[in-house]
Amino acid sequence: MDVEAVRRQFPILSQEVNGHPLVYLDSAATSQKPLAVIEAVDRYYREYNANVHRGIHTLSERATEAMEEARAKVARFIHAPAPEQLVFVNNATEAINLVAYSYGSRLAEGDEILLTPMEHHSNLVPWQLAARRTGARLRFIPLLPDGTLDLSQMDRLLGPRTRLVAVTHVSNVLGTINPVGDIAAAAHRQGVPVLVDGAQSVPHMPVDVQALDCDFLAFSGHKMLGPMGIGVLYGKRELLERMDPFLAGGEMISEAELECSTWQELPYKFEGGTPHVVGAIGLGAAVDFLEGLGMDEVFRHEQDLVRHALKVLREVDGVQIYGPEPPRGGVIAFNLGELHPHDLSTVLDQEGIAIRVGHHCAQPLTRWLDVPATARASFYVYTTRDEIDVLARALEHAKEFFGHVVER
Ligand code: PMP
Repeated sequence: MDVEAVRRQFPILSQEVNGHPLVYLDSAATSQKPLAVIEAVDRYYREYNANVHRGIHTLSERATEAMEEARAKVARFIHAPAPEQLVFVNNATEAINLVAYSYGSRLAEGDEILLTPMEHHSNLVPWQLAARRTGARLRFIPLLPDGTLDLSQMDRLLGPRTRLVAVTHVSNVLGTINPVGDIAAAAHRQGVPVLVDGAQSVPHMPVDVQALDCDFLAFSGHKMLGPMGIGVLYGKRELLERMDPFLAGGEMISEAELECSTWQELPYKFEGGTPHVVGAIGLGAAVDFLEGLGMDEVFRHEQDLVRHALKVLREVDGVQIYGPEPPRGGVIAFNLGELHPHDLSTVLDQEGIAIRVGHHCAQPLTRWLDVPATARASFYVYTTRDEIDVLARALEHAKEFFGHVVER
């Protein structure tokens, strides 16, 4: 991949921060946007901004067509059998809440949802709420010391009361790539559907919902070069058809009476209210961009960066890195001695380096790591090896600055 050519497509990257070239290592939180996406959004507002699906005027028809084209593009990107199995939502969080509410409303006391301790709060708290509403119980596939799942426990944990397995494809802290295809196969042998949180996989590797045979897939546009505020829920048709709507209101109704209503067909049944039209169109442009690079290439590039990062960061005395050996997602969580990651991030920012620190919305996992917080560097299509070297050098500077705290 010609990273320098890719970088020229991202105007935000060519700035200085605090007198240093920006080194953006926070793509797992949100990605930067290429010109193609910025221009697609700009064009929509300049040329054909209108509400969709209802208007019988030219602009509304153009907007509707563009949004549906984007849906078809995103559906092809994840190999969904049909575009109507793709529901546009705000983000991965909303996609999972939709399932936890609509599918979760069928749970009964004593039913079980099987999760993992490495879930982002988005794939944990909605299930806690569903359990509280219905009397269902949450169970967890345990972790092995290297931060992978102990799948030898799967068959024991998949019981007659298991109603759903909900698991992240890639951990946003450990970078662990979970074998969700194998997990789905094991769950399906017991007749249990599987929800995959694809927030950290769909942007970074080829994902084929039919090959994985997952029942639901949730992801966010803003982490894959698309605009903020657009996300996707993919679902198997028979499950989506059986589920009640989540958000009720305009756009999702077929017939409304004063006392009762009937729903639109898929996917509109789940798209109550005016949708994020420009977000969907921008996401379509992001998918075009990623397909132009090739998802195999994107994955290969990130694996190269991960290997490089593990090598150079391990050379920095006092650095503790979490998570398994590659192949793994392009996120590296680490600590530098006893230095609090917040202090580290503040010094790195002075050198123009953007990383994330804290619990990364995965508090149970941070507790499992037995640390108060971690620093996290995360990569994407525009990240270079040089930027990782800059980070490693900046860690040495931080050690000089905070010397006494870094030594354990
Ligand atoms: N799941 C994972 C694994 C994530 O990394 C994130 C974002 N950090 C989410 C879910 C939630 O994404 P969003 O905030 O866009 O809903």
